[in-house]
Amino acid sequence: MTASRSAVPTNSVEAALDAVLGDAREHRGGDLADYIPELASADREQFGIALVTMSGHVYEAGDARVPFSIQSISKPLVYAMVLDRIGLDGVHTVVGSEPSGEAFNAASFDDAGHPRNPMINAGAIATTALFPSGSGSGRGPGSGSGAGAGAGSGAGAGSGRFDGILAGLSLFAGRDLDVDEVVYRSEKGTAHRNRGLAHLMAAAGALSGDPDEAVDDYVRQCAVRVTTVDLAVAAATLAGGGLNPVTGVQVVTPESARHALSLMASCGMYDRAGEWMLRVGLPAKSGVSGGIIAASPGRMGLGVFAPPLDPAGNSLRGVAALTELSQRYGLHMLNLPRRTHPFLVEDEGAGRLRVLVRGDVDFVASETLIRHLEEVAAAGGITSILVDLSGATGIAPIAMELLRGELGFLKGIEIELAHPPNG
Ligand code: GLN
Repeated sequence: MTASRSAVPTNSVEAALDAVLGDAREHRGGDLADYIPELASADREQFGIALVTMSGHVYEAGDARVPFSIQSISKPLVYAMVLDRIGLDGVHTVVGSEPSGEAFNAASFDDAGHPRNPMINAGAIATTALFPSGSGSGRGPGSGSGAGAGAGSGAGAGSGRFDGILAGLSLFAGRDLDVDEVVYRSEKGTAHRNRGLAHLMAAAGALSGDPDEAVDDYVRQCAVRVTTVDLAVAAATLAGGGLNPVTGVQVVTPESARHALSLMASCGMYDRAGEWMLRVGLPAKSGVSGGIIAASPGRMGLGVFAPPLDPAGNSLRGVAALTELSQRYGLHMLNLPRRTHPFLVEDEGAGRLRVLVRGDVDFVASETLIRHLEEVAAAGGITSILVDLSGATGIAPIAMELLRGELGFLKGIEIELAHPPNG
């Protein structure tokens, strides 16, 4: 294992991350994933964390540059890539989307023999099998939903498929990744369970192509070498609608990124998914080498790495660190959203008002504005209102539709909608 010097905080954000590591270090115990022999030799004390903002700034603390194998954190990334290539229906005709409530390596199948979701091993192997070979790193023409290729046609063969997967994972990380061949061979030698799952799925028609080749590519994908910083960049890419904030590359479509986050939220932490949502409240994915990613949509991506695992196979210290971070930074995605008042009113005299709209105009902002206009109309004395939208940072189609529609309901006042953003 390559040694890498522990990052020293260079600003208050990094100092805060370092403090979270310090607290979470108190959590001792946990087991290394010894069913993959190479992972059993990991350094139990390594502990790194990284935070990447939507503007692409990287903050890190601890062993954030130590390399390790990505393992199951590859699952949501490959899932998003496959969605881009064959569409939502193409994937979900063979893989379910319900939390299994079972361990990551369980034989969790529905009545038709299809794996419960793409975040458990069985579903991830089936998803990897759907990655079209030779589709390269770019997004394919089947982006978006409804371009389903079905169970039969998405399967690729062998290394052609893996090249595309590796190229895509590299785009998520924002640098060229490679495979840890030692980890790959170590897991391949003991992948009896995953091979068994693949053959069961092939028998049920849920996995097309050669099941052993699918497992081989899946094991390779799990052995891709990353650092905690890479994980945080990948998480930030999902959090930012598929746009890598460091490189500026659109890695997957916003829809595919959102779908991946949805399944991370419901299934990413295996049989701890419910407790995780309760206490942390962020879409996340863990891996048996000790990594976890968590994404705060529109805000940041987080990566953490500490090898000892809890009984569910999630990094013990990683869970502790992200729990504390979510609470300290108020990151739970179901926290009440903070809103700024959407407009300012200026009385221009002679019965004329100017309403300056600001911020992002969504359904709620437009409804607030419409209600205000109605109150003004009911109070009387106003003959014309200019609704100035030039200060709005964005206006949702539904908001524009409601504002335009409301003009017909406001009697006796002349209303003008001026300067909507984007035309
Ligand atoms: N490669 C591992 C496996 O298939 C990935 C599991 C994990 O990280 N939870 O068993």
